[in-house]
Amino acid sequence: MSTHSYLKVGIAGAGLMGRLLAWRLSGAGHTVSLFEAGNLENPVGACQTAAGMISPLSELFHCPLPIYQLGMQSLQHWPQWVDQLQQQTALPVDYRQSGSILIAHPQDRNELLQFQQELNAKLGSENSAQLQWLDNLALQNLEPELERFDQGLFLASEADIDNRKLLPALLRALKQNRVQLYENTAAECHPGKVASARGSESFDLVIDTRGLGARTQIQGLRGVRGEVMVVETPEIRLNRPVRLLHPRYQLYAVPRANNRTVIGATEIESDDLSPISLRSTMELSSALYSIHPAFAEARVIETRVNCRPATMDNLPVVETGPGLIRVNGLFRHGYLLAPALVQKAESEIVKQTQTLATAQVT
Ligand SMILES: Cc1cc2nc3c(=O)[nH]c(=O)nc-3n(C[C@H](O)[C@H](O)[C@H](O)COP(=O)(O)OP(=O)(O)OC[C@H]3O[C@@H](n4cnc5c(N)ncnc54)[C@H](O)[C@@H]3O)c2cc1C
Repeated sequence: MSTHSYLKVGIAGAGLMGRLLAWRLSGAGHTVSLFEAGNLENPVGACQTAAGMISPLSELFHCPLPIYQLGMQSLQHWPQWVDQLQQQTALPVDYRQSGSILIAHPQDRNELLQFQQELNAKLGSENSAQLQWLDNLALQNLEPELERFDQGLFLASEADIDNRKLLPALLRALKQNRVQLYENTAAECHPGKVASARGSESFDLVIDTRGLGARTQIQGLRGVRGEVMVVETPEIRLNRPVRLLHPRYQLYAVPRANNRTVIGATEIESDDLSPISLRSTMELSSALYSIHPAFAEARVIETRVNCRPATMDNLPVVETGPGLIRVNGLFRHGYLLAPALVQKAESEIVKQTQTLATAQVT
């Protein structure tokens, strides 16, 4: 056990949560070791597949209130954390808070009304200021490419982050903070101990952020398959994430640098990691084409498949006990929830640090 008020922390899983926690804790002076089963430069976790939307209001339609509340907390932290990270690493992390737009084809107009009613029911009057109806003109002012839609909804507070820029920036910051990094090292987590091919190592605190890798330790944890495509075309320029509401499938299109757009995502109750199906490719492509026909000439740059780590009620878990914290079940909300969950874990760590310091004095 360390003899100062800083902890020796072992973290297993260098996905989104593992990297963020390792960065924050090493930045606060703790000595951190990070164990990752895969490769650090090319992450294999859900973090690498995600579209990076930070959209508490859009998600509230399908999710319970705590997801929205944690998401709103996260929105407070992301800008400051991204600034800090960019300054430390001199790497750009494309964080954008330009809101998002929901549209529906004229025959599916009810989808927009239903969305509004659902949010009204869940948020009450607080809702009205956050949700703005757009007529064709207002829609075109925000997104000229959406000229063929006669109305939409604007969720001004929503944001998105380019995960393919965030994850390498976090890795560089971890190296700068002298975090001990072990890649290709699958680990098991126990209170105060991490077991891996390196042997069993002792820590003041172990944090389990292994996503689906923690399935045997967290009852009911399951994978939910998600497929996305990345397309490229100079013909279309969206300025923010756009969601197409449709009775059978939901599509989002998230614009990225270099004329690229991430489109997604399927949600299939399965932990199958095999390549994207033809059916999903067709559904995603045709929904995108229905937003703007010029997408027909877009080039398919990449398809991505991964499984979201989800609990039975699709809510995140932060399990705390002496010497071990587990953060998991981020489901389709990793980027939405991560800062709020990091903060929950940090307050537990403050408690454990105080307990250790008291034990050392007495
Ligand atoms: C298609 C898709 C789209 C998504 N879009 C969004 C979005 O727009 N917005 C949003 O907020 N969220 C989105 N998500 C969800 C988000 O990606 C996840 O919630 C998030 O990545 C979970 O983070 P995590 O750190 O818990 O797990 P992961 O990111 O999966 O990381 C877990 C890490 O642990 C490692 N690991 C596993 N087992 C071990 C072991 N035994 N020892 C050591 N390491 C181990 C893995 O290799 C991995 O690197 C999306 C997910 C998918 C699949």
